Amino acid sequence: MKLKRGKAYRKLMNQYQVTFNFREPYQVLVDSQFVQDAARFKMDMVHLLKRTVQGEIKPMITQCDMRHLYNAEDKDEQLILQAKTYERRRCNHHELGEPLSSLECLSAVVGNTNKNRYVIASQDPKVREHMRTIPGVPLVYINKSVMIMEPMAASTHQHRDRDERAKFKAGLKGRRLAAQPNQKRKRDDEEGDSAKGHNEDSIVEGASRDARPQKKHKKGPKGPNPLSIKKPKKREASSAAAHGDCYKPDTNPEVAQEGGDSGKRKRRRKHKPKGEGGESRPTAEGEPDSS
Ligand SMILES: [Zn+2]
Repeated sequence: MKLKRGKAYRKLMNQYQVTFNFREPYQVLVDSQFVQDAARFKMDMVHLLKRTVQGEIKPMITQCDMRHLYNAEDKDEQLILQAKTYERRRCNHHELGEPLSSLECLSAVVGNTNKNRYVIASQDPKVREHMRTIPGVPLVYINKSVMIMEPMAASTHQHRDRDERAKFKAGLKGRRLAAQPNQKRKRDDEEGDSAKGHNEDSIVEGASRDARPQKKHKKGPKGPNPLSIKKPKKREASSAAAHGDCYKPDTNPEVAQEGGDSGKRKRRRKHKPKGEGGESRPTAEGEPDSS
């Protein structure tokens, strides 16, 4: 039973974490009766609270509940010393002549939303009844020396369901948005060293899927560049005839750009039949353009 309960409590606190952003150490706000009952049953309250919420805790007590301990008929100095080690939650009711009841004080501290994410450990059924109406308030109490965490209240369930639906919708939108940049990145990687300007363009062009094939078409002619490489050769050749010095530096980059064996083969074949001279080059390499 204990193992089962532990597992259930872990799941429960995990739900509070996911839906209401609860984080360790959990702030456990204990009321005076809870502290007294734990002592009465000789329970190690802090240790058992950790075990109940399945995590580290920060025990806290309100100023009003501290005063309840002082005002108790069977005032327990030892218990007061222990409670003094808990973090004091300033409820600002200390200026009142009498402390507020645990119900009034804790209701004020928790408010309508439990924005400080308190776990409420209370022996007062009315306190727990009120807290069940507020979404996201884990409730702990002691029953016959056993520390119990209540299952999620209906209000919390409703909130959680609403929250999950909202997250699910947001998740779908998020996936759509996230998918596009990822695909762009992949494409950018494939393009490798191709000019960064294209990538920037693709980002500007943005989301529509219609833009993707267009980009590919644009990139197609730029990639191989056969025409752009060969055409200048005619001009270079003609200019080379005029300026002999300029010719050699121009040819070297051409070889580097063509790279493959096909360029070398073409030259060899065409140089041999037509014989000597740089003048044959322009005509030989010009032929593929015309064809
Ligand atoms: Zn108070």
